[in-house]
Amino acid sequence: MKIRFYGAAGEVGRSCILIESGNTKVLLDCGIKLGKQEQYPLIEDSELKGIDAIVLSHAHLDHCGYLPHVFTAGYNGYIYTTKPTFELVNVLLSDYMKISEPKNVSKEGFNKVNTHFKIVEYLKEFKIKNLTFRMLPAGHVLGSSLVEVSDGKHRLLYTGDMSLKKTRMLEPAYTEDLKADTLIIESTYGGEKDEFPDEQKLINTMLTSIKETINKGGKVVIPSFAVGRAQEVLFILDDYMRSGVIPKVPIYIDGMIGKAMRIYRHNVIYCRKELQQRILMSEDDPFKSANFHNVMTKQMRGKIMHEHEACIVVTTSGMISGGPIIKYLESLAGNHNNKLMFVGYQAEGTLGRQILEGAKEIELNGHKVAVKMAVEMYRLSGHADRPQLLRFISKIHGLKNIFVVHGEEVKGKELHDTLEDKYKVQVPILKQEFDLN
Ligand SMILES: [Zn+2]
Ligand SMILES: [Zn+2]
Repeated sequence: MKIRFYGAAGEVGRSCILIESGNTKVLLDCGIKLGKQEQYPLIEDSELKGIDAIVLSHAHLDHCGYLPHVFTAGYNGYIYTTKPTFELVNVLLSDYMKISEPKNVSKEGFNKVNTHFKIVEYLKEFKIKNLTFRMLPAGHVLGSSLVEVSDGKHRLLYTGDMSLKKTRMLEPAYTEDLKADTLIIESTYGGEKDEFPDEQKLINTMLTSIKETINKGGKVVIPSFAVGRAQEVLFILDDYMRSGVIPKVPIYIDGMIGKAMRIYRHNVIYCRKELQQRILMSEDDPFKSANFHNVMTKQMRGKIMHEHEACIVVTTSGMISGGPIIKYLESLAGNHNNKLMFVGYQAEGTLGRQILEGAKEIELNGHKVAVKMAVEMYRLSGHADRPQLLRFISKIHGLKNIFVVHGEEVKGKELHDTLEDKYKVQVPILKQEFDLN
């Protein structure tokens, strides 16, 4: 079995790994790297035609955003993934095509993506030529999977993005009876100092701060990725509003979050058991909470921004690189009674990072806007931290080789140094190829 890294080597973004065994070639993920300048996996278009299949770990664009390009370049095979991932990919890719208008993508290529999915079930084996696969729950976002692949000689496990923490939405990653000689593991938070603080403490501080803003009559704006963090944050807000910890004010949902929320709702069988029970056994459907209000029109958005009413707005994009958040900030950033609350990673070069680092003036839609609103960060991560990653590795029977990907170079190095006594650890560079035989 050969492994080649076309992206996510020493970086977060453009995950794309080629697995080759005999004459079978399969791509694990096919993502893009978002940022000031979009970056793509380093696989040649001519090579894409020779790929037998693509297996997708989950719906985030850094794992699936290259699909429209791949089909435009002449790939004509299937994409294997879970049902929720298929549905979320549709929503996220349409949005991406509208906002980014990527080059080298034809309409036909984009339309082909939709009709080339093969839905697979968690824990059920499926075959692609001589390779046997299994998808296992990864605990990261709805439908996310660890991918197991075997050619009879080697057994490889690819984590995609994963979390070992139980959240309001999802069970943690599946860790029963894991067997693999080779592991490809994400390392977003694999660095020496990457240990998350106690989450309940973090949530309590966040709630106190929200209460303070609401009591002043201010508006709390929470930028979030449409899939994953947004649903967690909304459920946290709803829970504590119901129990009276934070005052009852409208929670407005804007951007793609509403659509993603509906996909979570009708795939609730893929969410954690307690959530399914809550919906099945009572009239109480948290997805349809009376505290939530979907922003359907520009007029409604205008009203929210200009009325003197305390409220909470959860909207896209998570790193303020586009989406309705721009409009909200144009109107709300200049008032010191309002608050901007980040809940996720802000990549270098993004407007989110600039604001987080204390910029007092930002540029939105070509004009300058003063930032007087309070700015705070509460990291509610969907990734495993370092102790979780190490715990996960220790649960894999027969493990020999580890490839560390999907993390800044320094994180990979720090994981390497910790693990090298027990395993053969590699931190691949872009386009590097390894032969396991
Ligand atoms: Zn992800
Ligand atoms: Zn990712």
